[in-house]
Amino acid sequence: MPSRREPPLGAARRLLPRMRAWREAFHREPELSYHEKATREKVTAALDELGIPYRTYSGFYGVLALLGEGRPGPVVALRADMDALPVTEATGLPYRSRVEGKMHACGHDVHMAALLGAGAILAERRRSLAGPVKLIFQPAEEDGREGGALPFLRRGCLRDPKVDHIVGQHVDPAVPAGVVGLKPGACMAAADTVRIVVHGHGGHASSPHQGPDAVLIAAEIVEGLQALVSRVRNPVDPVVVSVGSIHGGTRHNILPAEVTLEGTVRTFRPATRDLMERALHRRVRAIAESLGARASISYERGYPTLWNPPAETLRIEQGLIAALGQARVRELEFPILGAEDFARYLERVPGTFMRLGAATRGTLASLHSASFAPPEESLQVGAAALVAATDVLQRSRA
Ligand SMILES: [Zn+2]
Ligand SMILES: [Zn+2]
Repeated sequence: MPSRREPPLGAARRLLPRMRAWREAFHREPELSYHEKATREKVTAALDELGIPYRTYSGFYGVLALLGEGRPGPVVALRADMDALPVTEATGLPYRSRVEGKMHACGHDVHMAALLGAGAILAERRRSLAGPVKLIFQPAEEDGREGGALPFLRRGCLRDPKVDHIVGQHVDPAVPAGVVGLKPGACMAAADTVRIVVHGHGGHASSPHQGPDAVLIAAEIVEGLQALVSRVRNPVDPVVVSVGSIHGGTRHNILPAEVTLEGTVRTFRPATRDLMERALHRRVRAIAESLGARASISYERGYPTLWNPPAETLRIEQGLIAALGQARVRELEFPILGAEDFARYLERVPGTFMRLGAATRGTLASLHSASFAPPEESLQVGAAALVAATDVLQRSRA
Protein backbone atom coordinates (compact mmCIF):
# COMPACT_ATOMS: atom_id res chain seq x y z
CA MET A 1 0.00 0.00 0.00
CA PRO A 2 1.55 3.33 -1.01
CA SER A 3 2.18 5.85 1.74
CA ARG A 4 -0.19 8.81 1.69
CA ARG A 5 2.86 11.03 1.77
CA GLU A 6 4.19 9.59 -1.48
CA PRO A 7 5.27 12.59 -3.59
CA PRO A 8 2.85 13.31 -6.47
CA LEU A 9 5.47 12.77 -9.19
CA GLY A 10 6.40 9.34 -7.82
CA ALA A 11 2.76 8.33 -7.50
CA ALA A 12 2.11 9.52 -11.06
CA ARG A 13 5.11 7.55 -12.33
CA ARG A 14 3.72 4.43 -10.67
CA LEU A 15 0.38 5.03 -12.41
CA LEU A 16 1.89 5.76 -15.82
CA PRO A 17 1.02 2.34 -17.36
CA ARG A 18 -2.66 2.85 -16.51
CA MET A 19 -2.68 6.45 -17.71
CA ARG A 20 -0.99 5.34 -20.94
CA ALA A 21 -3.69 2.73 -21.53
CA TRP A 22 -6.50 5.23 -20.86
CA ARG A 23 -4.91 7.85 -23.06
CA GLU A 24 -4.35 5.45 -25.95
CA ALA A 25 -7.95 4.20 -25.74
CA PHE A 26 -9.28 7.79 -25.85
CA HIS A 27 -6.91 8.59 -28.68
CA ARG A 28 -7.89 5.61 -30.83
CA GLU A 29 -11.57 6.54 -30.74
CA PRO A 30 -11.94 10.33 -30.93
CA GLU A 31 -15.38 11.94 -30.86
CA LEU A 32 -16.42 15.46 -31.82
CA SER A 33 -18.10 18.02 -29.56
CA TYR A 34 -21.54 16.91 -28.25
CA HIS A 35 -20.92 13.33 -29.48
CA GLU A 36 -18.63 12.03 -26.71
CA LYS A 37 -20.71 8.92 -25.97
CA ALA A 38 -18.01 6.25 -26.23
CA THR A 39 -15.57 8.59 -24.48
CA ARG A 40 -17.99 8.89 -21.57
CA GLU A 41 -18.19 5.10 -21.39
CA LYS A 42 -14.40 4.88 -21.19
CA VAL A 43 -14.33 7.50 -18.42
CA THR A 44 -17.03 5.77 -16.37
CA ALA A 45 -15.39 2.35 -16.87
CA ALA A 46 -12.11 3.76 -15.51
CA LEU A 47 -13.91 5.38 -12.55
CA ASP A 48 -15.65 2.07 -11.81
CA GLU A 49 -12.27 0.34 -11.91
CA LEU A 50 -10.91 2.91 -9.43
CA GLY A 51 -13.96 2.70 -7.18
CA ILE A 52 -14.68 6.41 -7.57
CA PRO A 53 -18.39 7.32 -7.42
CA TYR A 54 -19.76 9.54 -10.20
CA ARG A 55 -22.91 10.70 -11.90
CA THR A 56 -23.88 11.00 -15.55
CA TYR A 57 -26.71 12.86 -17.30
CA SER A 58 -29.24 12.27 -20.01
CA GLY A 59 -28.69 14.32 -23.16
CA PHE A 60 -25.27 15.49 -22.00
CA TYR A 61 -22.04 13.48 -21.98
CA GLY A 62 -20.35 15.07 -18.97
CA VAL A 63 -19.26 12.94 -16.02
CA LEU A 64 -19.04 14.35 -12.49
CA ALA A 65 -17.11 12.23 -9.97
CA LEU A 66 -16.77 12.94 -6.26
CA LEU A 67 -14.06 11.78 -3.88
CA GLY A 68 -13.95 12.31 -0.13
CA GLU A 69 -17.63 13.19 0.22
CA GLY A 70 -18.28 14.72 3.63
CA ARG A 71 -14.63 15.50 4.37
CA PRO A 72 -14.54 18.80 6.26
CA GLY A 73 -12.06 20.87 4.19
CA PRO A 74 -12.36 23.02 1.06
CA VAL A 75 -13.93 21.47 -2.04
CA VAL A 76 -11.56 21.37 -5.01
CA ALA A 77 -12.77 20.63 -8.56
CA LEU A 78 -10.38 19.35 -11.24
CA ARG A 79 -11.53 19.55 -14.84
CA ALA A 80 -10.60 17.84 -18.12
CA ASP A 81 -12.23 18.31 -21.53
CA MET A 82 -13.29 15.33 -23.65
CA ASP A 83 -13.81 16.21 -27.30
CA ALA A 84 -11.68 15.75 -30.42
CA LEU A 85 -11.46 17.58 -33.76
CA PRO A 86 -12.34 17.01 -37.42
CA VAL A 87 -8.69 16.43 -38.39
CA THR A 88 -7.24 13.43 -40.26
CA GLU A 89 -4.36 12.15 -38.15
CA ALA A 90 -0.88 12.02 -39.65
CA THR A 91 1.23 11.08 -36.60
CA GLY A 92 1.83 7.43 -37.53
CA LEU A 93 1.58 6.55 -33.82
CA PRO A 94 0.73 2.93 -32.99
CA TYR A 95 -2.38 4.15 -31.15
CA ARG A 96 -3.41 6.64 -33.85
CA SER A 97 -7.05 7.45 -34.50
CA ARG A 98 -9.07 4.65 -36.03
CA VAL A 99 -11.78 7.04 -37.08
CA GLU A 100 -11.21 8.65 -40.46
CA GLY A 101 -11.34 12.43 -40.28
CA LYS A 102 -11.34 12.67 -36.48
CA MET A 103 -8.43 13.10 -34.13
CA HIS A 104 -7.49 14.13 -30.60
CA ALA A 105 -5.42 16.97 -32.07
CA CYS A 106 -5.82 19.24 -29.05
CA GLY A 107 -4.58 16.84 -26.36
CA HIS A 108 -7.91 16.32 -24.58
CA ASP A 109 -7.03 12.60 -24.46
CA VAL A 110 -4.02 13.58 -22.32
CA HIS A 111 -6.17 15.84 -20.12
CA MET A 112 -8.65 13.03 -19.40
CA ALA A 113 -5.98 10.41 -18.72
CA ALA A 114 -4.07 12.79 -16.42
CA LEU A 115 -7.28 13.60 -14.54
CA LEU A 116 -8.02 9.89 -14.11
CA GLY A 117 -4.44 9.45 -12.89
CA ALA A 118 -4.90 12.27 -10.36
CA GLY A 119 -8.21 10.70 -9.34
CA ALA A 120 -6.48 7.37 -8.81
CA ILE A 121 -3.82 8.95 -6.59
CA LEU A 122 -6.40 10.88 -4.56
CA ALA A 123 -8.60 7.76 -4.28
CA GLU A 124 -5.70 5.89 -2.67
CA ARG A 125 -5.76 8.47 0.10
CA ARG A 126 -9.50 8.99 0.26
CA ARG A 127 -9.63 8.41 4.01
CA SER A 128 -7.09 11.11 4.64
CA LEU A 129 -8.20 13.68 2.05
CA ALA A 130 -8.36 17.16 3.54
CA GLY A 131 -11.61 17.88 1.68
CA PRO A 132 -13.87 16.60 -1.09
CA VAL A 133 -12.51 16.54 -4.66
CA LYS A 134 -14.73 16.72 -7.73
CA LEU A 135 -13.51 15.40 -11.05
CA ILE A 136 -15.24 17.19 -13.95
CA PHE A 137 -15.05 15.45 -17.34
CA GLN A 138 -16.50 18.10 -19.64
CA PRO A 139 -17.62 17.61 -23.25
CA ALA A 140 -17.69 20.09 -26.14
CA GLU A 141 -14.86 22.48 -25.26
CA GLU A 142 -13.99 22.84 -28.94
CA ASP A 143 -17.45 24.13 -29.83
CA GLY A 144 -16.41 27.74 -29.19
CA ARG A 145 -19.92 29.12 -28.63
CA GLU A 146 -22.17 27.37 -26.13
CA GLY A 147 -19.32 24.96 -25.28
CA GLY A 148 -19.59 22.31 -22.57
CA ALA A 149 -18.88 24.33 -19.43
CA LEU A 150 -22.13 26.35 -19.53
CA PRO A 151 -24.39 23.29 -19.87
CA PHE A 152 -22.42 21.62 -17.06
CA LEU A 153 -22.75 24.70 -14.85
CA ARG A 154 -26.51 24.73 -15.51
CA ARG A 155 -26.55 21.12 -14.30
CA GLY A 156 -25.00 22.25 -11.04
CA CYS A 157 -21.45 20.88 -11.32
CA LEU A 158 -20.15 23.51 -8.88
CA ARG A 159 -22.92 22.90 -6.33
CA ASP A 160 -23.67 20.22 -3.74
CA PRO A 161 -21.04 20.24 -2.39
CA LYS A 162 -20.24 23.82 -3.33
CA VAL A 163 -16.86 24.06 -5.06
CA ASP A 164 -14.35 26.45 -3.43
CA HIS A 165 -11.51 26.17 -5.98
CA ILE A 166 -11.18 24.84 -9.52
CA VAL A 167 -8.10 23.78 -11.48
CA GLY A 168 -7.77 22.81 -15.13
CA GLN A 169 -4.91 22.37 -17.55
CA HIS A 170 -4.09 22.27 -21.25
CA VAL A 171 -1.09 20.81 -23.04
CA ASP A 172 1.03 23.57 -24.52
CA PRO A 173 3.52 23.14 -27.39
CA ALA A 174 5.27 26.37 -26.31
CA VAL A 175 6.22 24.97 -22.88
CA PRO A 176 8.85 22.20 -22.53
CA ALA A 177 7.58 18.73 -21.61
CA GLY A 178 7.92 18.12 -17.89
CA VAL A 179 7.23 21.76 -17.01
CA VAL A 180 3.98 23.37 -15.83
CA GLY A 181 3.39 26.97 -16.91
CA LEU A 182 1.36 29.35 -14.77
CA LYS A 183 0.06 32.76 -15.76
CA PRO A 184 -1.49 35.01 -13.12
CA GLY A 185 -4.16 37.37 -14.48
CA ALA A 186 -5.24 37.31 -18.13
CA CYS A 187 -4.19 33.92 -19.50
CA MET A 188 -6.38 33.36 -22.56
CA ALA A 189 -8.53 35.62 -24.71
CA ALA A 190 -12.21 36.24 -25.23
CA ALA A 191 -13.12 34.90 -28.69
CA ASP A 192 -15.99 36.24 -30.77
CA THR A 193 -17.11 35.15 -34.22
CA VAL A 194 -18.17 37.53 -36.94
CA ARG A 195 -19.95 36.73 -40.18
CA ILE A 196 -20.26 39.46 -42.80
CA VAL A 197 -22.29 39.21 -45.99
CA VAL A 198 -21.55 41.89 -48.60
CA HIS A 199 -24.57 42.43 -50.83
CA GLY A 200 -23.45 43.77 -54.21
CA HIS A 201 -25.15 43.79 -57.60
CA GLY A 202 -23.75 40.90 -59.54
CA GLY A 203 -23.40 40.67 -63.31
CA HIS A 204 -20.84 40.56 -66.10
CA ALA A 205 -17.31 41.21 -64.89
CA SER A 206 -16.69 43.45 -67.89
CA SER A 207 -19.32 45.92 -66.61
CA PRO A 208 -18.32 46.55 -62.99
CA HIS A 209 -19.77 50.09 -63.11
CA GLN A 210 -23.31 48.72 -63.20
CA GLY A 211 -23.47 47.91 -59.54
CA PRO A 212 -21.45 47.54 -56.36
CA ASP A 213 -18.81 44.83 -56.67
CA ALA A 214 -19.07 42.59 -53.61
CA VAL A 215 -15.62 41.05 -54.25
CA LEU A 216 -13.80 44.40 -54.17
CA ILE A 217 -15.73 45.52 -51.09
CA ALA A 218 -14.94 42.23 -49.32
CA ALA A 219 -11.25 42.77 -50.06
CA GLU A 220 -11.43 46.31 -48.64
CA ILE A 221 -13.13 44.96 -45.51
CA VAL A 222 -10.36 42.40 -44.93
CA GLU A 223 -7.78 45.18 -45.03
CA GLY A 224 -9.95 47.74 -43.30
CA LEU A 225 -10.49 45.58 -40.23
CA GLN A 226 -6.76 45.71 -39.48
CA ALA A 227 -7.08 49.47 -38.92
CA LEU A 228 -9.22 48.61 -35.88
CA VAL A 229 -6.27 46.70 -34.43
CA SER A 230 -3.70 49.37 -35.21
CA ARG A 231 -5.73 52.55 -34.72
CA VAL A 232 -8.78 51.93 -32.51
CA ARG A 233 -7.48 49.93 -29.57
CA ASN A 234 -4.76 50.91 -27.16
CA PRO A 235 -1.50 49.41 -28.53
CA VAL A 236 -0.56 47.91 -25.15
CA ASP A 237 -3.87 46.02 -24.96
CA PRO A 238 -3.64 42.94 -27.23
CA VAL A 239 -6.29 42.40 -29.91
CA VAL A 240 -6.44 40.07 -32.90
CA VAL A 241 -8.87 40.33 -35.79
CA SER A 242 -8.50 37.56 -38.39
CA VAL A 243 -10.63 36.76 -41.40
CA GLY A 244 -10.42 32.99 -41.85
CA SER A 245 -12.78 32.43 -44.75
CA ILE A 246 -14.06 34.25 -47.83
CA HIS A 247 -16.64 32.75 -50.14
CA GLY A 248 -18.20 34.21 -53.24
CA GLY A 249 -18.43 33.75 -56.97
CA THR A 250 -18.47 30.89 -59.42
CA ARG A 251 -16.14 31.84 -62.30
CA HIS A 252 -13.69 34.42 -63.55
CA ASN A 253 -16.05 36.66 -65.52
CA ILE A 254 -19.09 36.81 -63.29
CA LEU A 255 -19.31 39.25 -60.40
CA PRO A 256 -21.21 37.54 -57.56
CA ALA A 257 -24.15 39.27 -55.90
CA GLU A 258 -22.85 38.28 -52.49
CA VAL A 259 -19.56 37.55 -50.77
CA THR A 260 -19.42 36.07 -47.26
CA LEU A 261 -16.54 36.63 -44.84
CA GLU A 262 -16.03 34.87 -41.52
CA GLY A 263 -13.55 35.83 -38.87
CA THR A 264 -12.60 35.88 -35.23
CA VAL A 265 -12.05 38.77 -32.82
CA ARG A 266 -9.81 38.14 -29.77
CA THR A 267 -9.56 40.53 -26.83
CA PHE A 268 -8.70 40.49 -23.12
CA ARG A 269 -10.54 43.38 -21.50
CA PRO A 270 -14.37 43.51 -21.48
CA ALA A 271 -14.32 47.22 -22.41
CA THR A 272 -12.04 46.45 -25.37
CA ARG A 273 -14.36 43.65 -26.42
CA ASP A 274 -17.30 46.09 -26.49
CA LEU A 275 -15.21 48.68 -28.30
CA MET A 276 -14.08 46.25 -31.01
CA GLU A 277 -17.61 45.02 -31.61
CA ARG A 278 -18.94 48.57 -32.03
CA ALA A 279 -16.00 49.69 -34.17
CA LEU A 280 -16.22 46.63 -36.42
CA HIS A 281 -19.90 47.30 -37.17
CA ARG A 282 -19.17 50.95 -37.93
CA ARG A 283 -16.19 50.25 -40.16
CA VAL A 284 -17.74 47.42 -42.19
CA ARG A 285 -20.90 49.45 -42.84
CA ALA A 286 -18.86 52.51 -43.83
CA ILE A 287 -16.71 50.56 -46.30
CA ALA A 288 -19.75 48.94 -47.91
CA GLU A 289 -21.77 52.15 -48.05
CA SER A 290 -18.88 54.12 -49.54
CA LEU A 291 -19.26 51.99 -52.69
CA GLY A 292 -23.06 51.89 -52.65
CA ALA A 293 -23.40 48.39 -51.21
CA ARG A 294 -24.86 46.98 -48.03
CA ALA A 295 -23.25 44.60 -45.55
CA SER A 296 -25.10 42.47 -43.03
CA ILE A 297 -23.12 41.55 -39.95
CA SER A 298 -23.74 38.90 -37.35
CA TYR A 299 -21.45 39.15 -34.36
CA GLU A 300 -21.57 36.29 -31.87
CA ARG A 301 -19.82 36.33 -28.53
CA GLY A 302 -17.96 33.14 -27.66
CA TYR A 303 -15.93 32.26 -24.59
CA PRO A 304 -14.99 35.09 -22.23
CA THR A 305 -11.44 36.00 -21.20
CA LEU A 306 -9.78 33.35 -19.05
CA TRP A 307 -8.64 35.24 -15.98
CA ASN A 308 -6.51 33.41 -13.42
CA PRO A 309 -6.97 35.20 -10.08
CA PRO A 310 -3.38 36.23 -9.26
CA ALA A 311 -3.30 35.45 -5.50
CA GLU A 312 -4.81 32.00 -6.04
CA THR A 313 -2.51 31.28 -9.01
CA LEU A 314 0.60 32.29 -7.05
CA ARG A 315 -0.51 30.10 -4.15
CA ILE A 316 -0.82 27.13 -6.51
CA GLU A 317 2.53 28.01 -8.09
CA GLN A 318 4.22 27.88 -4.67
CA GLY A 319 2.54 24.53 -3.98
CA LEU A 320 3.73 23.13 -7.31
CA ILE A 321 7.27 24.33 -6.69
CA ALA A 322 7.28 22.62 -3.27
CA ALA A 323 5.84 19.37 -4.66
CA LEU A 324 7.45 19.10 -8.11
CA GLY A 325 10.58 21.21 -7.75
CA GLN A 326 11.42 24.65 -9.07
CA ALA A 327 12.72 23.27 -12.40
CA ARG A 328 9.26 21.95 -13.28
CA VAL A 329 7.35 25.17 -12.67
CA ARG A 330 7.54 28.28 -14.80
CA GLU A 331 5.69 31.57 -14.63
CA LEU A 332 4.76 32.46 -18.21
CA GLU A 333 5.58 35.90 -19.56
CA PHE A 334 2.74 36.20 -22.05
CA PRO A 335 -0.90 35.17 -22.22
CA ILE A 336 -2.14 33.50 -25.41
CA LEU A 337 -4.98 34.60 -27.64
CA GLY A 338 -6.51 31.14 -27.84
CA ALA A 339 -9.79 30.68 -25.95
CA GLU A 340 -11.07 28.11 -23.46
CA ASP A 341 -14.43 27.58 -21.85
CA PHE A 342 -12.66 26.88 -18.55
CA ALA A 343 -13.03 30.68 -18.33
CA ARG A 344 -16.71 30.11 -17.47
CA TYR A 345 -15.81 28.27 -14.26
CA LEU A 346 -13.30 30.95 -13.27
CA GLU A 347 -16.07 33.56 -13.61
CA ARG A 348 -17.77 31.76 -10.72
CA VAL A 349 -15.04 30.34 -8.43
CA PRO A 350 -11.34 31.09 -7.94
CA GLY A 351 -8.75 28.73 -9.33
CA THR A 352 -6.23 28.54 -12.12
CA PHE A 353 -5.71 27.11 -15.58
CA MET A 354 -2.27 25.56 -16.00
CA ARG A 355 -0.31 25.21 -19.24
CA LEU A 356 1.07 21.68 -19.31
CA GLY A 357 4.42 21.47 -21.09
CA ALA A 358 4.43 19.21 -24.14
CA ALA A 359 7.39 20.26 -26.32
CA THR A 360 10.11 17.65 -26.67
CA ARG A 361 13.55 18.69 -27.92
CA GLY A 362 12.21 22.20 -28.28
CA THR A 363 9.42 21.44 -30.73
CA LEU A 364 5.97 20.05 -31.06
CA ALA A 365 3.49 20.45 -33.89
CA SER A 366 0.88 23.09 -33.09
CA LEU A 367 -2.43 22.35 -31.43
CA HIS A 368 -5.10 21.23 -33.94
CA SER A 369 -2.47 20.02 -36.43
CA ALA A 370 -2.57 16.50 -37.90
CA SER A 371 0.84 15.68 -36.41
CA PHE A 372 0.20 16.94 -32.87
CA ALA A 373 1.52 14.29 -30.46
CA PRO A 374 2.24 15.37 -26.87
CA PRO A 375 4.69 13.04 -25.09
CA GLU A 376 3.93 10.65 -22.25
CA GLU A 377 5.79 12.84 -19.82
CA SER A 378 2.82 15.24 -20.02
CA LEU A 379 0.61 12.52 -18.51
CA GLN A 380 2.86 12.03 -15.52
CA VAL A 381 3.46 15.71 -14.83
CA GLY A 382 -0.18 16.56 -15.57
CA ALA A 383 -1.48 14.08 -12.98
CA ALA A 384 1.14 15.15 -10.43
CA ALA A 385 0.34 18.84 -10.95
CA LEU A 386 -3.38 18.28 -10.35
CA VAL A 387 -2.64 16.39 -7.12
CA ALA A 388 -0.14 19.01 -5.94
CA ALA A 389 -2.62 21.83 -6.69
CA THR A 390 -5.34 19.98 -4.76
CA ASP A 391 -2.97 19.53 -1.80
CA VAL A 392 -2.09 23.20 -1.59
CA LEU A 393 -5.69 24.39 -1.99
CA GLN A 394 -6.92 22.03 0.74
CA ARG A 395 -4.18 22.98 3.13
CA SER A 396 -6.57 25.07 5.15
CA ARG A 397 -5.96 28.73 5.71
CA ALA A 398 -9.28 29.13 7.49
ZN1 LIG B 1 -8.53 22.90 -29.29
ZN1 LIG C 1 -8.02 22.05 -26.35
